[in-house]
Amino acid sequence: MQKTTLIIGAGGVGRVVVHKCVLNEDVFGKIVLASRSIGRCEEIKSELPDANIETRTVDADKTEEVVELINEINADIVINVALPYQDLTIMDACIATKTHYLDTANYEHPDEAKFEYKLQWQRDSAFKEAGIMGLLGSGFDPGVTNVFCAYVQKHYFDEIHTIDILDCNAGDHGYAFATNFNPEINLREVSANGRYWENGEWITTEPMEIKMLWDYPEVGVKDSYLLYHEEMESLVKHIKGLKRIRFFMTFGESYLTHMKCLQNVGMLGIKPVMHQGKEIVPMEFLKTLLPDPASLGERTKGKTNIGIVAEGIKNGEKKKIYIYQVSDHEECYKEVNSQAVSYTTGVPAMIGAKLILEGKWQGNGVFNIEEFDPDIFMDELNRQGLPWQIKEL
Ligand code: NDP
Repeated sequence: MQKTTLIIGAGGVGRVVVHKCVLNEDVFGKIVLASRSIGRCEEIKSELPDANIETRTVDADKTEEVVELINEINADIVINVALPYQDLTIMDACIATKTHYLDTANYEHPDEAKFEYKLQWQRDSAFKEAGIMGLLGSGFDPGVTNVFCAYVQKHYFDEIHTIDILDCNAGDHGYAFATNFNPEINLREVSANGRYWENGEWITTEPMEIKMLWDYPEVGVKDSYLLYHEEMESLVKHIKGLKRIRFFMTFGESYLTHMKCLQNVGMLGIKPVMHQGKEIVPMEFLKTLLPDPASLGERTKGKTNIGIVAEGIKNGEKKKIYIYQVSDHEECYKEVNSQAVSYTTGVPAMIGAKLILEGKWQGNGVFNIEEFDPDIFMDELNRQGLPWQIKEL
């Protein structure tokens, strides 16, 4: 029987997911694209005039609205590419309707700049009882980086001791300052304290305190800063023998200077302030001023390179493996009208959903992506537009 796929969120990532699901329409069947405002959904639909796409409005902050929509269209899976704030309400709607669930970013409360899996993992037993699968973090990082870890664990190591996740975006959009995905989510992540895990403990650093230089293949040497990133929370649970895991992201000097300045004047605040008798949230106002990330696509040139370096032991010998993926902003835009950050997130979201619908990844409960056999996902990456490279260092 033909499937029905519900995609919630019509931003940069949502656009890529729709394009890629349409390319795999034998698996995804009818696509219903729903978002808070219909305009963006219609725009995406108009890019694919021959595809079987319907559009809807939904306020995904309201579980009952999502339940109603899932029931109305009889969805087989919900791909959540709205914002992390909607993860729990959408998960609850999936439980109520016994529908598979997938997302790309872990839950965050709008009023607290803190993201963690706790509340999503707590829904594991409800997912089990409903007989459905919830796949968390099926983007690039989290997502592909977790699959890279599972893949090297399976094929290259008896034990992995250290992992560094290395995220480089060398794209240039020509603006003095803009963020490549949702500014609020991006700036909250970047302005937070750094954190990494070593010998069973989380170690907190000041924001941007630890810096290293890394030579990214096809990009070059870039300043890379230690940040906390959500995939580490699940990887420390699932990678055996791990002694340390860190996450590094590249930032140019100009980006950091702008950010520091915005932070110093209070523009990154997420608590309301009074302005001319009206409450405003500085970060939300900043979002209004900054270029819409969706508009950056056609201006952005350059490449992304995201990967992992793992060190450990195989047959008693030390080993160091680097596995990475390079994408080109202009090529991505040519294919799906979105730049590489949205592309590298949307493709893995589609792949995760494809493997669920095909029954290749199965299970009742809430899972992180590294818990499944990585090989089929790695093959799909090569087939669906994200070819990867592996090197022994
Ligand atoms: P955008 O801000 O471009 O798009 C978000 C979309 O969600 C918009 O269409 C927005 O609608 C919609 N939305 C927001 N609130 C609601 C709501 N209450 N109900 C229904 N729809 C809503 O974000 P991106 O496309 O850049 O990112 C999408 C997701 O992907 C985010 O969760 C982000 O954190 C994640 N991500 C993950 C990455 C990874 O590698 N794992 C990397 C990059 C992003 P409207 O237009 O009306 O505001």
